[in-house]
Amino acid sequence: MLAAEPCELSRGAPAPAPLRGQTPARLTVLSGPSAVGKSTVAARLRVTCPWIWQSVSVTTRPPRPGEENGREYYFVSTEEFDGMAARGELLEWASYAGNRYGTPRAPVQLRIDRDAPALLEIDVAGARQVRATFPESLFIFLAPPTWEELERRLVSRNTESPDAISQRLEAARAELAASDEFDITLVNTSVDDVCNQLVALMTAQYGSLERDADEHDGTGPGLAQQGIH
Ligand code: 5GP
Repeated sequence: MLAAEPCELSRGAPAPAPLRGQTPARLTVLSGPSAVGKSTVAARLRVTCPWIWQSVSVTTRPPRPGEENGREYYFVSTEEFDGMAARGELLEWASYAGNRYGTPRAPVQLRIDRDAPALLEIDVAGARQVRATFPESLFIFLAPPTWEELERRLVSRNTESPDAISQRLEAARAELAASDEFDITLVNTSVDDVCNQLVALMTAQYGSLERDADEHDGTGPGLAQQGIH
């Protein structure tokens, strides 16, 4: 079960100085290798800091036990995904270990238009695409304490076939080598520490992370409401 304690640093504790100047697109990209714990951090923030708006990606990967359509991902067919990509409805997308993942453009654009912060949890290839479009974003890399720990997490979570695990480990080696492309690296020794550091960095960069009054629905508008289908 996730702890439901609020993030201390988002409640007015002193935040570090911004890493960069104030930016037009207030995007924070959380990236790093598969199984490093990005989605655990995102899930913890949904509970502890629900006012931080998170993009919900579309994927062709089947749901894992406990995942809900519209919360962790929008689960779509390959045809639906390709249609969205072809129509320019994805801000970025990438193939990862045999599946496709992409960020729906419309809800993120809405945040940008409102000058409001948004958090994207995506792979390194996706982060590079966001950098090409919105170079002023804040790019955060989540690293495992050790390579052995990453291997252990990937194998022990028991959600992938042996083939998929090897593909993800191969991808992870390349992704780890990309850490110096990011503004800052956080080492995932504790989910709570990473959440607090992430919120502190976002607060330092963007000030208030509160959602707009009409965005307290937990996941933002569904795909149909976004005009994506
Ligand atoms: P998983 O299947 O473990 O949920 O995700 C596999 C990888 O895809 C992870 O590194 C995750 O961060 C990444 N990912 C999730 N959503 C997106 C997205 O919208 N775009 C890109 N490029 N990668 C994503």
